[in-house]
Amino acid sequence: LLSFISNQISSDDAWKEGKTLPYSALCDVFSAIEAISSRLEIQEKLTELFRLVLLRDGGGANEDALKNKNRDKNDKAVRKDDRQSDLYSLIYLASNSVAPSYECVELGVGDSILIKAIGEASGTAPNIIKKKYDAEGDLGTVAQTSKGKQKTLVGFGRMSGPKRLEANEVLTVFRQIATTSGSQSQKWKVDKIKGLLVRARGSEPKYIIRGLQGKLRIGLAQSTVLASLAHAVVLTKPKDVVQLTDEQLKEIKDTEDGDRGAYPDFARKLCDKNLPLDIKLDAAVAIIKKAYSEVPSYDSLLDAVLCVPLQELHKACNLTPGIPVAPMLAKPTKSVVDVLKRLNGLRFTCEYKYDGERAQVHMTPDGKTKVFSRSLLNTSEKFPEVPLYVREACKDAPVTSFVLDTEVVAFNRETNQFVPFQVLSTRKRTEESAESAKVQVIVQAFDLMYLNGKSLLDCPLAKRRALLRENFVPIDGKFQFATSLDHTENGDTTVIEEFLEQAVKGQCEGLMVKTLDVSAAYKPSLRSLNWLKLKKDYLEGLGDSVDLVPLGAYFGKGKRTGVYGAYLLACYDEDSEEFQSVCKIGTGFSEEDLKELAASLNSYIIPEKSSQYVVSDALECDVWFDAVQVWEVKAADLSKSSTHRGAIGKTGESGRGIGLRFPRFERVRPDKKPEEATTSDQILDMYYAQDSIVGGVDGGADDD
Ligand code: ATP
Repeated sequence: LLSFISNQISSDDAWKEGKTLPYSALCDVFSAIEAISSRLEIQEKLTELFRLVLLRDGGGANEDALKNKNRDKNDKAVRKDDRQSDLYSLIYLASNSVAPSYECVELGVGDSILIKAIGEASGTAPNIIKKKYDAEGDLGTVAQTSKGKQKTLVGFGRMSGPKRLEANEVLTVFRQIATTSGSQSQKWKVDKIKGLLVRARGSEPKYIIRGLQGKLRIGLAQSTVLASLAHAVVLTKPKDVVQLTDEQLKEIKDTEDGDRGAYPDFARKLCDKNLPLDIKLDAAVAIIKKAYSEVPSYDSLLDAVLCVPLQELHKACNLTPGIPVAPMLAKPTKSVVDVLKRLNGLRFTCEYKYDGERAQVHMTPDGKTKVFSRSLLNTSEKFPEVPLYVREACKDAPVTSFVLDTEVVAFNRETNQFVPFQVLSTRKRTEESAESAKVQVIVQAFDLMYLNGKSLLDCPLAKRRALLRENFVPIDGKFQFATSLDHTENGDTTVIEEFLEQAVKGQCEGLMVKTLDVSAAYKPSLRSLNWLKLKKDYLEGLGDSVDLVPLGAYFGKGKRTGVYGAYLLACYDEDSEEFQSVCKIGTGFSEEDLKELAASLNSYIIPEKSSQYVVSDALECDVWFDAVQVWEVKAADLSKSSTHRGAIGKTGESGRGIGLRFPRFERVRPDKKPEEATTSDQILDMYYAQDSIVGGVDGGADDD
C-alpha cells in the first residue's frame, strides 16, 4: 500500500513540487480500511500513510522534488511547515474531528444542507438526492454516485478538470463550517461544501459528506490513530526532526517537575538498538498514549512528536492547566474483604463516593478558570459558580495555578444535605449564575493534580492530598474535601463497613478506596487497582452497574406499538475496537423513557448492521443505530452464552461469549462516549468475580 500511494502521490505534480498531501491519498486509505475488519491491518494501513508524511523533507517520495533545479526555491521547497500541516490534516481527518474535544467544536452538518450541496454540485434536484438517500441509507455513497454522473459537466470545456483537493484545504473548510452558525450561514455552508464537491474525484465526495455528517463509518477508533502514529514514528525515524535547544525545551516543559521516575523503564530504552522491534513499537504506543492522556490535543502531541525524540515526549507534552487531563478511573469491588484482598497490605484511604458529576477545575497562571466533565467537555457554563467557590477556597493561600479533581453534587443549603443525582441532571447546559440556578451545588474536592507550575501526577496520593488540604480551605455549603477514613491494616473489616453505612446514609453511592503511599500516583485515563469503588447497591450482585451501547432495536407490540419494545446492548472491546452484544433489554423503561429513547435514536438509524458490531444472526434487529449513546444498566448476574458475544475469544470456550441476565435500564449516561462504555475485559473480570464462579460453581450461570 505504501508503494502504491507513494507512487500515486509522487506522480502528482503538486505533491512533487512541494505542496501538501492530496486528499485523495487519505481517501484511498479510508477505502482500503473500510474493506477490512482486522484492527491490526487497519493500523498498518494508517501507519503507512503517517510514514509517508513523516518521510517528506529530503527523503522518500520527495527526493526528486528537492533535486528539481528548475523550481522556485522560496515557493516550492518542501517546507517543514508543510509536513507539519500534512500531519495535522491527516490526524484530524482520520479521527473525523476538527479540534480537541474539550473545545466543543463538533462537525455534524444537517442532512438538508448536505443534500442541497450535493444537488447543486451535481446538477440534480434535491428531492432526487433525498429519494436516493432514503433508499440507500448513506448520503456519502449518494454523493459519490451523483458525482459520477456529473463528470462530463465539470470536465466540459476544461480538459484538465478542476484543481485537485489537498487534505489541509478540506480540513480548513470543515473547521470553518463547524465554527460558523446562524440561519444566515446556511447558504454560505452550502456554497463551501459545493466548492469541495465540484473538485472532488473518486471516493472523495463520499468521505467529504460522511466527514461532515460526523460519521466516517470506517471503523477507525482513536486508539488506532494514536498507535499508528507511534508505529510510524518508530519505523520512519524522520531525518530532520527538529531538535530544540535546551533553552527552548525549558520554555515549553515543566522544568521544575524533575520527579518523573515513574516513567516506564522500557520507554526510556526506546532508542536501544538491540531491543526487538515489537518492544520498541509497544513502548512507542505507551508513550504516545500516555502523552495524549495528559494532553488530549493532537496539536500539542504532534508539535511534541516533531520536536523531541519519543523517549523525551513527556518533557514536551505533559499536564497543562487549561487543557483537561483524562480522569483516573476505578475498578469495582464486591465487599470489604475483596478490597482488603486486592490491596494486599498497602496503606489506603476510604472516601465517600459522592453521587454527582465529575468536575475537573483548572486555573491557569493568568487567573482564568475552566471546568471540565468526565468526558473532557467544557462544563464551565453549566457550573458558573464552581470556579468562584474553588477560588474562594484558596484565597488566602499563595496559589497561582492548579488542577483539581472534584465531584459537583446537588446540595440543599437549608437542610445541609446532598440531593440525588437525578435532581442535578436537571441543570441546564448554560446557567446564568448560582443564584438563578434552580439546583444549588457543592464542590467535593478529592484530588490535586497540579499546583503552582508543578505537575503532581507522579506524587503519591498522601502527598497530593496534603497539598490539597494545605492550599485550600473548606467553605460551608460551597467547597468541602471528600470525607475520608485512613485505614491501618489490622484485618478488621467492621470499621470500613460502618463507614460505608455512614456514606450511604449521607446520600452517597458508597466508597472510593485509594492507595496512599505505594502505587499511589495519579494515572490519567487508567482504571487501575489503586482506585477501587465499593457501592452498597451492588454488594450482593455484580459489584457495579454496567454502561452499555444500544446497537439496534426491535419493534414494539401491544402497549409498546409505535416505540421500540426492546433494544440490543453491547459492551466495547478495546482490542478489536468492536461493540459486542451482551443483552436484549426490555425492562426498567418508563413509558416516557421509551418515547424519548426512540425519538433520540431514530436520527441515528443506519441501513445495515455496522461492521464494528459483533452480534449473532439470532439477534438480528429490526433497526440498527450508529453507536452514539451509553446506558447504565443493572443485571442479576453474568453468564456464558451462545447467543451473546461479550469478551468472545477470551472466555476459554470457542464461540461462546458473556451475556447479562435480567438486565434493567437505569438511565442514559450523557457524560460517556460509546468508547467509554464498559469494556469486554471489565465484563470478563466481573464474570469471574461472581460468587458462583469464584466458588467453582459455573453451572448456575449459563443462559443457554
Ligand atoms: P467509571 O468512572 O468507573 O467508568 P462511572 O462513570 O459509571 O464509571 P462510577 O462507577 O460511579 O462512575 O465511579 C467513578 C466516579 O465516581 C468518578 O468518575 C467520580 O465522578 C465519582 N466520585 C465520587 N466521589 C469520588 C471520590 N471520592 N473519588 C473519586 N471519584 C469519585
